[in-house]
Amino acid sequence: MNDTIAAISTAVTEAGIGIVRISGPEAVEILCRIFHPKKEKDLRSLPSHTIHYGYIQDRDVMIDEVLVMYMKGPHTYTGEDTVEIDCHGGIYSVRRVLETALSHGARIAEPGEFTKRAFLSGRLDLSQAEAVMDVIRAKNEYALESSLQQLKGSLREAVTGIRGRLLHQIAYIETALDDPEHYDLTGYPEELAAIVEEEKKNLEELLSHSSDGRILQEGIRTVILGKPNAGKSSILNLILGEDRAIVTDIAGTTRDVLEEYVNFGGMTLHMVDTAGIRDTDDKVERIGVERARHMAEKADLILYVVDSSTSLDENDLEIMELLQNRNAIVLYNKTDLSPSVTPEEIANKTDKPILSISAREKTGMDELIGMIREMFFSGDLSFNDQVYVTNLRHKEALQEALASLHMVMDSIRMNMPEDFFSIDLRNACESLGRISGETVGEDLVNEIFSRFCVGK
Ligand code: GDP
Repeated sequence: MNDTIAAISTAVTEAGIGIVRISGPEAVEILCRIFHPKKEKDLRSLPSHTIHYGYIQDRDVMIDEVLVMYMKGPHTYTGEDTVEIDCHGGIYSVRRVLETALSHGARIAEPGEFTKRAFLSGRLDLSQAEAVMDVIRAKNEYALESSLQQLKGSLREAVTGIRGRLLHQIAYIETALDDPEHYDLTGYPEELAAIVEEEKKNLEELLSHSSDGRILQEGIRTVILGKPNAGKSSILNLILGEDRAIVTDIAGTTRDVLEEYVNFGGMTLHMVDTAGIRDTDDKVERIGVERARHMAEKADLILYVVDSSTSLDENDLEIMELLQNRNAIVLYNKTDLSPSVTPEEIANKTDKPILSISAREKTGMDELIGMIREMFFSGDLSFNDQVYVTNLRHKEALQEALASLHMVMDSIRMNMPEDFFSIDLRNACESLGRISGETVGEDLVNEIFSRFCVGK
């Protein structure tokens, strides 16, 4: 960790500015070699977090006119001395600035290496470091909100708290076993049982607010099913928004688009098989119930459209069967017409929530957004301080920790000796430590950071 690294931290494309970041013990030294401030000043004694105007030069050759930001460690992203050079954002000029830094003592940074240094210096734990990448990749409000919370340390705090309290018990048991003269463990198992129950609850609470990171980041895979003429394509167009619907009116433009991503109330819906809906007015029959079944199986969410102005038939019953054990919403459409089937009749045949809408009058979309939010994110993320677990790695670690605590409870119930408790408590701590990074090996750390982008 004692070399100084450099990389382009902005996108390598023509832009207003580009940023070259340099971090490490030699950051200032390298700056002295390549930067010529407009106003004479001693670069070795710059106050931290200041900005300086001047030129980057490779010996006598002028490279670019820049602004330099100087930040002294440890109050920097990496924890080390850091220099950021704001240069003109041409692809060539940013590269030249980087090359100049490299030829004067910096080494090119690996993907994620700045963040890795932040982790190794203890500025961020592993869950926060992972959140950095999630923030960068966030494509919707929900993904951003949950990643920002995690970056702030919400998960870190929750996990460290639980782990710390368990470690305390391990220490107590081991001290007592080592020193039976001064410590009496009579009655302790009951005490421990209460503590473990409490931490089990905490873990269960965290797990109950875990949502699949894929769903959050990449979107909810959604299919629209329903009989011909029920209003599927009208609803699809409403979901896709006016502009997209107009595009689809131009013959041939989006006919063969099989899937589309849409921002729907801050969430991403990944609409699957949209061409199938547009292509035919006989969806279920054309694609066959088998295919519909297959699509339904792959979906995170099924929107089942019922035309309220016609009565239910065999097809509807078959589709309703597909909805069993799935996340599904019945869209009771065409409520602007007089009904031939009532919501109660549908409710007798399926336990899925039923939402009255009219695709023609464009009513019911806000309610639909609310229902999907409730279904996938237990309401609104920004309404509370709930910690959201979105990373599969974290979720698995929490599940393992919970399983270990179950075993502690079993041992207590079976009146096992105390050292049995500490084995499982240790396992639980080990699992939790993997979230924060305290108990992970170098391989996993490298693996995680290798997925980062260059310059972060
Ligand atoms: P699909 O075959 O399921 O894709 O159904 P479409 O979206 O093509 O709609 C079939 C017909 O029903 C079209 O003429 C639509 O204009 C009409 N329609 C769709 N939704 C409504 C609605 O809410 N009210 C009324 N009155 N007609 C609708």
